[in-house]
Amino acid sequence: MKTKIAVFDSKEYDIASFENANADGRYEVKFYETKLTEDTVNLTAGYDAVCVFVNDTVNDKVIDRLVDNNVRLIALRCAGYNNVDIEYAYGRIHVVRVPAYSPYAVAEHAMALLLTSIRRIHKAYIRTRDFNFSLSGLTGFDLHGKTVGVVGTGKIGRVFIDICKGFGMNVIAYDKFPAKDSGINYVTLDEIWEKSDIISFHCPLTDETRHVVNAGSIDRMKKGVVIINTSRGALIDSEALLEGIKDRKIGAACLDVYEEESDVFFHDFSGHIIEDDTLARLISMPNVIVTSHQAFLTAEALSNIADTTFSNVEQFFAEGVCDNELCYKCAKVGSCPQEHKKLCF
Ligand code: NAD
Repeated sequence: MKTKIAVFDSKEYDIASFENANADGRYEVKFYETKLTEDTVNLTAGYDAVCVFVNDTVNDKVIDRLVDNNVRLIALRCAGYNNVDIEYAYGRIHVVRVPAYSPYAVAEHAMALLLTSIRRIHKAYIRTRDFNFSLSGLTGFDLHGKTVGVVGTGKIGRVFIDICKGFGMNVIAYDKFPAKDSGINYVTLDEIWEKSDIISFHCPLTDETRHVVNAGSIDRMKKGVVIINTSRGALIDSEALLEGIKDRKIGAACLDVYEEESDVFFHDFSGHIIEDDTLARLISMPNVIVTSHQAFLTAEALSNIADTTFSNVEQFFAEGVCDNELCYKCAKVGSCPQEHKKLCF
């Protein structure tokens, strides 16, 4: 019997990479365009596993319905798992993820946003398409010699640090669990706020990091600071960010993620009236660049995501273990260290 997997929130690029990774037809895969929510969870009846992404809802009610439907595995096709109630899942249903697929994809996108923003490439692109070759208002600044504060020095944060070093930047970093012998110049979070010309976030969204950028922290930052968020939207209090931009305190914001992104990102709303006033106002600012959670979107990353998702499913159902299992006990210290050769429950 083939393992049956229901893939939610699937886009054409997901389908292409998953079909490629499943070219031999080992798995029976159903792609749903809809997100997994309390309203759509009934679609999981008859499946062994569900595959979800960053904006699917996997709360207690959804988990109960998955268990009722005899679904045995939640396979995240992403690294972050803030949308899954892993504490509630413990003892009920196993959760696995793709811990790394291309830290380069995300770190390079963060740098692309930064360069675009500070060299006004987004403005220049539109001007020259209209044969406007004026340079007025396009003055940028050198990255060389500037101080960048990196919050979160895991896989993506470290690649971003290396990229910044290549630009001759002075890198300082904060991590709740600093990497030993890494040569990284760790400082306190307060020093990040106070010393950085640019701050880039590469930590997970947790109770501790939710709204870590707020009116208070913005107050401590340098005037003209550039904020980059390719991690999770709710690290930033969007209202406070908007106020910081209107006060001219924040020089620029580069956002690949947004705290209320789930109803908007990944969809085409051109020609519609956006209900979210904060997002609309942010997008209207000349010094804000928004991409819709696309930092991961490279051919290499998509291929790795599909391969790792299938190998997670295979290991779980064939061997009764999974190296990439998530459980809330292990997650408290990062992600599951898997020192035990068994499932977490
Ligand atoms: P990782 O687990 O390798 O690194 C995360 C780092 O954050 C770790 O070093 C950890 O110690 C640190 N950390 C944990 N709690 C912290 C806290 N309270 N304050 C500061 N640091 C803390 O993860 P990664 O692969 O580098 O990914 C980082 C984040 O990037 C993910 O959590 C995810 O939210 C986001 N991400 C976004 C995209 C995208 O497309 N935009 C793609 C992949 C990942």
